[in-house]
Amino acid sequence: MIETIYVEDAIQNHPKTKFILNKFKKSRIISINKYGEIFNKRNQNFRIQKANPCLILAHKKDNFVLPAPEGFGIGSSKNFYFSHMYNCIYDCRYCFLQGMYSSANYVIFVNFEDFDISIKKIIENNVDSKVTFFSGYDCDSLALENVTGFAKHILSIFRKYPQIEIEFRTKSLQKEPFLSAKPMRNVILAYSLMPELMSNSLDNKAPSISKRISVISELALKGWKIGLRFDPLIHGENWKELYKELLENIYNNIFLDNLHSVSFGSLRFPKRMFKDIFKLYPHEPLFTSPLSLNNKMISYDIDIEEEMTSFCKNLSLKYINEDQIFKCSI
Ligand code: SF4
Repeated sequence: MIETIYVEDAIQNHPKTKFILNKFKKSRIISINKYGEIFNKRNQNFRIQKANPCLILAHKKDNFVLPAPEGFGIGSSKNFYFSHMYNCIYDCRYCFLQGMYSSANYVIFVNFEDFDISIKKIIENNVDSKVTFFSGYDCDSLALENVTGFAKHILSIFRKYPQIEIEFRTKSLQKEPFLSAKPMRNVILAYSLMPELMSNSLDNKAPSISKRISVISELALKGWKIGLRFDPLIHGENWKELYKELLENIYNNIFLDNLHSVSFGSLRFPKRMFKDIFKLYPHEPLFTSPLSLNNKMISYDIDIEEEMTSFCKNLSLKYINEDQIFKCSI
């Protein structure tokens, strides 16, 4: 339940604002001039806000679509990302958003039509390149789909460009708008996963791994392309057994013909961000595990990272082809 919703004056009458407010009839609505007044306020406490976040409906002015960082991609030569929302309803311990924003409130940008314009412009300017867009870099792309309808909206754009890929990355169990639509070969539904035992203590408020696998299996059978994202890979006692069990469970339970790609990424944080996150959870075992400063990033030592990646990759190669496997190195 969202108790308070802040609404920017400029979008009070926007159809999407009305659509969203209609879902929260009992919430207190407060008009504001700019979302930054609330979201960027000084001296906010991320932890306290996370227990009872407010919703902020806002108008995004610029930077609708941005080039993805180097090392982020699944085989295309050009990669872009966009976020219709800031922050997430889940509370994963390793989430970089908690080190990026001082506020845990959710911001939803309601002017989806401006995302469409930017996406189309990028597609038209890159006709000779293989392009992938990533939805939800600053949020979980589907977790609030029942409130925003953003994925449903954006699918209608990508239906017109079957040569352009879009990835929705999520931990959610949202099956709409996918179950009710005809599968699109250029859409990748990508799920972040880790062994259940680790997820139980790190993926707070997110659906269990077994439930995620069951949704993946259903959507793959229906004909949607699936991405598996083992990012971050988490080191710990018995990690080999835990990842073996997870990978075998997934590969044996999904229709592999519709598996688009698998990627592995290491646990890493920019130094400054790690400091802020560590302050929030000084007793979290994840942050007292063997992490060190490598190349301006706090991460496991390179040999631990490499051992984990090659172990998971070699196991995956029993089920899928090498060209379906990617390493996320941002
Ligand atoms: S699902 Fe993703 S965005 Fe949401 S809290 Fe977890 S890591 Fe962060």
